[in-house]
Amino acid sequence: MADLVEGIPGLEAAERIARHDLARLNYPPANWVPERIGPDGRRVLDVLVVGAGMCGQTAGWNLLREGIRNIRVIERSAYRKEGPWNTTARMPILRSPKHLTGPDLGVPSLTFRAWYEAQHGAAGWDKLYKVLRLDWLDYLLWVRKVVDLPVENNVGLVSVEPAGDLLKATLSTGEVVHTRKLVLANGRDGSGGFRWPSFPSFDPADPKRMGRAFHTLEDIDFAALAGKRIGVLGVLATAIDNAATALEAGAREAICYARRPHLPQVNKSKGVSFPGFQRGQGMLDDDWRWKIYTYMLAAGSPPPHESVLRVQKLPGFAFHFAEPWLDVIVDETGVTVKTTKATERFDAVFFGTGFDVDVARRAEIAAFTANVKLWGDARSPEEAGANAEAALYPYLGPGFELTEKVPGRTPLLGSIHLFNWGSILSQGALAGDIPGLQFGSPRLVQAISHSLFKADVARHVENMFNQEDPELAPTDYFVPREKRSGTL
Ligand SMILES: Cc1cc2nc3c(=O)[nH]c(=O)nc-3n(C[C@H](O)[C@H](O)[C@H](O)COP(=O)(O)OP(=O)(O)OC[C@H]3O[C@@H](n4cnc5c(N)ncnc54)[C@H](O)[C@@H]3O)c2cc1C
Repeated sequence: MADLVEGIPGLEAAERIARHDLARLNYPPANWVPERIGPDGRRVLDVLVVGAGMCGQTAGWNLLREGIRNIRVIERSAYRKEGPWNTTARMPILRSPKHLTGPDLGVPSLTFRAWYEAQHGAAGWDKLYKVLRLDWLDYLLWVRKVVDLPVENNVGLVSVEPAGDLLKATLSTGEVVHTRKLVLANGRDGSGGFRWPSFPSFDPADPKRMGRAFHTLEDIDFAALAGKRIGVLGVLATAIDNAATALEAGAREAICYARRPHLPQVNKSKGVSFPGFQRGQGMLDDDWRWKIYTYMLAAGSPPPHESVLRVQKLPGFAFHFAEPWLDVIVDETGVTVKTTKATERFDAVFFGTGFDVDVARRAEIAAFTANVKLWGDARSPEEAGANAEAALYPYLGPGFELTEKVPGRTPLLGSIHLFNWGSILSQGALAGDIPGLQFGSPRLVQAISHSLFKADVARHVENMFNQEDPELAPTDYFVPREKRSGTL
């Protein structure tokens, strides 16, 4: 132990310690879910987890810990390309403080701190300001390896349909699998898609925009923007980090525009990041949950001060507040942007406008979406009309499962668990940001565990009746079954 505190034991030693801790926790426990054969003659999966980013891998590991082991975790991207960290995230460090836990599911030797100290020692940990973006990815992949979670990279979910009381999933490989439960851990846009503001002359589907108008969470060739003038719609974290990345790559100018008169000042979600709020929000009645999140959505969240410090020192950067865009016209040589104050000419524009939650946009679950209950269905038309964004959030059950707009029409919706950002109105931020994960993942897994057990209860009870255990065989008091009285 002295080594751990003062020295730098290295990742292999950290892995040995973590594996030993897992063994002490009897991980992995035996599978308890009875085998079921599907219409294709193959064993039905108990859970198919879609997405192996932070939420998907944590949910997958949590299922294994629960003894639900007949699962598959699929990930459409290549290894080390899961999630935003090594793809579309363009900040050097995480916003979150370094001490955050979550993907470790409460095992100390699997925390980010354990991973970091193993390589940099206790002194290195003390010196660390915030987590480097790619360190977070490497840490997640390390946890995945140590807990022996099998992940199938380069395999996507294409669609899911009902098949009796099962779900039939078609994968990008052409394989068709039957599963009892589906967990959609498909990321921040997993309940909708990119938000593209509507302008009279702009169509995001028009191929002419390629290379000139980008959503900030798309692939962008920043080197190609050297010497260019860039307009950015948005002033929140991703807008600013993209502007900074472009300027650092040699762009001449990057101007971030906002409708609002100044940056949002207070990160409200930080203030409610404590167990009572995180655990309790999903237990509240509809009025409270609606009140909390319609407020959160309207309040917005300031960009991290580190991102603002990064960009404000770069020559060529400017904020234009209180200057909304009215139109965006892309042509062969650049982009004309009409604002409320001017007509500007840019070489390229970025839309730092985030995501929409709108399950109707998810092709994977198109067979089900017509009957998905939304928050708008649970509120009065006046409230839904006044909060159009919030009204589109799915109204989930207590285990993150989709619920029915018209009860009885598509009961299989209850087997589809939305473990992504679309769950915030129903559950709070338990399946998106790091701090909520330690509450969200166990809640999801307990719900799945309970539902699988309940569905098979007759079989479990029958097994209990038939159970034989020669506990007393080594003693003088063992009685063979045929000689016992009653059920004993
Ligand atoms: C730029 C950025 C910075 C962030 N910084 C922080 C921070 O500092 N602190 C914090 O708490 N949170 C932060 N977040 C929020 C959150 O932690 C991340 O978004 C995190 O990645 C969420 O994990 P996830 O598993 O839900 O989604 P992801 O990590 O995006 O994983 C989803 C995975 O699903 C896969 N997938 C999608 N569709 C399919 C399909 N059909 N089939 C198979 N696979 C599919 C994707 O390829 C992806 O790998 C940040 C988010 C972004 C975008």
